[in-house]
Amino acid sequence: MTTNYHLETLAVHAGVEPDPVSGAVMTPIYQTSTYAQADVAVHKGYEYSRTDNPTRTALQKALAALEGGQHALAFASGMAAIDTILRLIQPGGHVLSGNDVYGGTFRLFDKVLAGYGVQFSFVDTTEVTAVQAAMQPNTRLVWLETPTNPMLRLTDIAAIAQIAHAGGAWLGVDNTFASPVLQRPLALGADFVLHSTTKYIGGHSDVVGGAVVLNDTAVYERLKFLQNAIGAVPGPMDCFLTLRGIKTLALRMAQHCRNAQQVAHFLADHTAVRHVIYPGLESHPQYELARRQMAGPGGMISFILQGGEAAARLVARETKLFTLAESLGGVESLIELPAPMTHASVADSPLAVDPGLVRLSVGIENAADLITDLQQALAQVR
Ligand SMILES: *Cc1c(COP(=O)(O)O)cnc(C)c1O
Repeated sequence: MTTNYHLETLAVHAGVEPDPVSGAVMTPIYQTSTYAQADVAVHKGYEYSRTDNPTRTALQKALAALEGGQHALAFASGMAAIDTILRLIQPGGHVLSGNDVYGGTFRLFDKVLAGYGVQFSFVDTTEVTAVQAAMQPNTRLVWLETPTNPMLRLTDIAAIAQIAHAGGAWLGVDNTFASPVLQRPLALGADFVLHSTTKYIGGHSDVVGGAVVLNDTAVYERLKFLQNAIGAVPGPMDCFLTLRGIKTLALRMAQHCRNAQQVAHFLADHTAVRHVIYPGLESHPQYELARRQMAGPGGMISFILQGGEAAARLVARETKLFTLAESLGGVESLIELPAPMTHASVADSPLAVDPGLVRLSVGIENAADLITDLQQALAQVR
């Protein structure tokens, strides 16, 4: 089941076959570490659950179908997935990364992997010429996020793919913020799509996971070897929950976009708000790119208040429907201050963000209720 069905259909059906033993319509949670063998080394494709597990296989097929890729591998977290991809790069290799990537990604690159002989440089990937200029003869991988977290900057995936490939490098795109419903990087030339399935794909803030989707079979074989060798795999229960989340992904993304668009307009018109960053507003510097590259502007909004950090802290404390918490992409709305929370790990780096920046993950509740909640919180800012 791949290319013939629309994404909404794939989200419900891809990877999911009635269980051959019982006919169970939903993929069972194969809560087992090992599998009986009919004879020595004779088995049904499953030997040990670090290597393969049927619930994980179903999830991987679903993820591949959603991104329009040949292969997918699921991991215990988004970071585990990124780390495993980076093991493809030998010491001496260079990785050109966006300078506005997820804080944990920057930490992994700068504080962990740089110590193993892989070179990293960080550039503004929204500037195609800056990426071109930063390519090196030993660049093996270009890594970017679009939209970025928390500044919601967009990068032209197709343009960067050309530059990466001309330089003999892969392009990896962290598609966590957009989800495959809004953006399909493989179709735009990316070699790897990365997801923190913890966010929109899982969608219910009840499971941590990650995934890589790709087309190249030889690279997939190497990554699958690494997945088993390193062992940062998700358990069957987590795979089941992620699969269940996927079934409503298309519906959820549509509602996230609808709600966020309304909330963004409300904020943009509010006198206590200085600046709103949302790819669905014409004031966004890459509004046109968003319209071209994405099927919708997403559920994430960042904004700065007239009252700066003190006002931001007050609003984050005073919202009632928007829960003050890290993470994003769940059905429930969240509010946070990136500088002291999600981005504390990059405080002293080039990725440091304005301490007064507020980030919203707009959920799928009723938009009027969300706006009323923000209104009462903003009313307390003097
Ligand atoms: C959360 C996140 C990650 C890391 O994923 P985990 O599942 O938390 O390990 C990577 N990239 C982006 C854009 C994220 O939001």
